[in-house]
Amino acid sequence: MKKVYFDHSATTPVHPVVAEEMIRYVTENFGNPSSIHFFGREARRAVEEAREKVARGIGAKPEEIFFTSGGTESDNMAIKGAVYANRRKGNHIITSAVEHHAVLDTCKALQEEGFTLTILPVDRYGMVRLEDVAEAITEQTVLISIMHANNEVGTIQPISEIGKLAREKGILFHTDAVQSMGKIPVDVDDLQVDFLTISGHKFYAPKGIGVLYIRKGTKWQPISHGGGQERKHRPGTENVPGIIALGKAVELVLSDLSEESQRLAALRDKLVQGVMDRIPHVYLNGHPTRRLPNLVNFTFEFVEGESLLYSLDMKGVAASSGSACTAGSMEPSHVLLAMGIPVEIARGSLRLTLGRDNNNEDVDYFLDVLPPIMDRLRSISPLVKK
Ligand code: PLP
Repeated sequence: MKKVYFDHSATTPVHPVVAEEMIRYVTENFGNPSSIHFFGREARRAVEEAREKVARGIGAKPEEIFFTSGGTESDNMAIKGAVYANRRKGNHIITSAVEHHAVLDTCKALQEEGFTLTILPVDRYGMVRLEDVAEAITEQTVLISIMHANNEVGTIQPISEIGKLAREKGILFHTDAVQSMGKIPVDVDDLQVDFLTISGHKFYAPKGIGVLYIRKGTKWQPISHGGGQERKHRPGTENVPGIIALGKAVELVLSDLSEESQRLAALRDKLVQGVMDRIPHVYLNGHPTRRLPNLVNFTFEFVEGESLLYSLDMKGVAASSGSACTAGSMEPSHVLLAMGIPVEIARGSLRLTLGRDNNNEDVDYFLDVLPPIMDRLRSISPLVKK
């Protein structure tokens, strides 16, 4: 059976060139970068080279790049480290209703500790309004955290505008760029951010490696303690193979960013058109133009997203409904609900995310298998008004 992987926003395969580079740091160059002997020095050299690649890729300085275990840890470090360090200045945090749980739950945990929290609403496209950010700011606001691109619907937020506002008001600004890195340009100065999160496994590096960018001179404090690694910002022996892989993956995805984005956007548009032409009672979610090139999110009336996923899986198509972290639970997506989509319809959501290994044949295959599945599911659905 043909296998089609349409779940690149959940994770990506490690690129063969990345894997090849990385394997040398698992086997022959296995040294600890803190050791002074040859093995250690070689690992240190490679780690610093990877740091430079990442810095170049996002318009930062190498000393502003800190390697972590992934997006979740970077989000926690940025948010907790910023608010703890600025506690004397104020205790108010602003975020949005469509953030990943790594941001939302961190902010809620801080609320339990006594910080005050504003969770901004979004419009029907999942977009935060600049006026709402401006209105939410108080004398007590120390941090704004708004994601660059949404992981469920692909909407791209007005990050530079929010960054400009935050800067004028002297408020720190964090963005989670986990889904945008490698798909659209990510530049810390253009975006006007103080903190930025990326995660390797979303762009062809392995799982368990990420980056937190911290602008030089930003008041911030570490949230874990131990050795002096990563200039005491993130102690613990470095994940050398992961770091090397992430550096290589950044270089690789940025080498043909605009060509690959255009290719994916064309495949995505074909997918959208094909679904719209073949299936009645379907909605496309997210912003019509300010969106990621590789992500589509549909809601189908009268079906459950989970049943659709199982049926597609039986035909060899791997997709997702809502974010990977909530798949498996029957809760409708908090992102779709925040966009005002009714609960019954939000349950019928399907996210398809394309990547380097996808081509026209994959899209054609999907468009062939979907209509009979949809007919069958709707014919047995208790949700259909008969
Ligand atoms: N932030 C966003 C927007 C994500 O999509 C994800 C993963 O799905 C994360 C954070 C978490 O990243 P990681 O899996 O590296 O912890």
